[in-house]
Amino acid sequence: MNALMNALPCGILTFRDDGCIVDGNQTLAEWLGYSVSALGAMHVEKLLTVAGRIFFQTHLFPMLRLQGRAEEIFLLLRHSDGSDVGAIVNAARSERDGAWVTDCVFIQVRERRKYEDELLRARREAEGANAALAARSRELESVNSKLREQTLELELQQQQLEEQTTELEAQSEALRTINEDLLQRSEELEAAREVADHANHAKSQFLATMSHELRTPLNAIGGYVDLISLGIHGPVTAEQMQALERVTRSQRHLLRLINDVLNLARIEAGRLDYRIDPLLMQEVIASVVPMIEPQMASAQLTLESRVEPGLEAAADRDKVQQVLINLLTNALKFTPAGGHVTIRARLDPAGRHVLTQIGDTGIGIPADKLTSIFDPFVQVDSRHARTIEGSGLGLSISRDLARGMRGDLTVDSTPGVGSTFTLRLPVNGTRTRIPPTR
Ligand code: ADP
Repeated sequence: MNALMNALPCGILTFRDDGCIVDGNQTLAEWLGYSVSALGAMHVEKLLTVAGRIFFQTHLFPMLRLQGRAEEIFLLLRHSDGSDVGAIVNAARSERDGAWVTDCVFIQVRERRKYEDELLRARREAEGANAALAARSRELESVNSKLREQTLELELQQQQLEEQTTELEAQSEALRTINEDLLQRSEELEAAREVADHANHAKSQFLATMSHELRTPLNAIGGYVDLISLGIHGPVTAEQMQALERVTRSQRHLLRLINDVLNLARIEAGRLDYRIDPLLMQEVIASVVPMIEPQMASAQLTLESRVEPGLEAAADRDKVQQVLINLLTNALKFTPAGGHVTIRARLDPAGRHVLTQIGDTGIGIPADKLTSIFDPFVQVDSRHARTIEGSGLGLSISRDLARGMRGDLTVDSTPGVGSTFTLRLPVNGTRTRIPPTR
């Protein structure tokens, strides 16, 4: 055998038909525990176990004779120490140099099994890896399908957002239009207000002029009636006297009305001047009471005044008198016979204002009218208004005057029980400069 044959990792053996070994390589000799030279001198059957020998004689050798070759036959060889060595053999029988020889190639089953085991293990590992791969692939598939669902959901949300954005844009556009409209309207309103202000000023101007023009002839009527009544133009009969009294009553009523209108027009035109001086309330009230007392008495009303001594307001005497007379006249008009009217003056708890209150036990004012009675020409009950003289201007003028002096006029009232009007004026010492407008 040459070096290559000896080095091959499989056993090689050649024997003759009579069973004598012609040659064997190093590998086979080592497997079976012989030297190469010992192997060369042996009979082939010596290398087989009993079972191997029977198989060789009955099957393998006859097959070689008949077919000239045998492939992948399992044989049990015998080691020199008596142990078994399993091997797979490929054999071919041929005639060489005038003699029939059989060449065999052995692969030890141990080796082959090792390769098979490794193959098996590798296959198992591959199968395991395959299964893991399949599981992972299933997992990925499920993640994938979840992702697909989420994508769909996101697409839906995006669509909704787009719709909402469009809607918001439309709303914002509408708001812009409304805003422009409002701006335009506010400009129009501003212009209208200017026109109204102008018209109002013109109205006040007109009223002031007209009232003044009306007062002169009315005063003349009063004067001439007085002269006739005095008999200066000849004797006056009782009947004529009655008629003259009626003329006088109407003339006075008309004059009062015109005076009120003139006052209001003056205030509105901002032409009223205030003379603010220290004002002893005791004095002002004392000057007003005698003016109203006789009428109170004839209307069967009692009048009582209670004033804290030394109480001093900073106000315009004439205007305060005008307000007080107006409030007392109202108390007189709206309190039935047998009632009481009171005037009280005191310092408010904060010490900043003088409060003058005119209370009565009259018909009272409904709650829903407590604000509007301070508007010009407002009278609570038109039935009453017809029987009781008045223009509906008194309270409006009075409150304007009070505010013109940095004070105010308010009311508390219960229908059927009575009313209390409170005139609030700054206490002397907190005086501030009052501009000539209200
Ligand atoms: P006038 O007395 O000339 O009608 P006012 O402006 O002074 O006008 O008063 C407005 C209305 O307020 C009155 O018509 C009346 O209805 C109501 N009023 C004013 N004072 C009293 C009062 N003391 N009691 C009841 N009602 C009153």
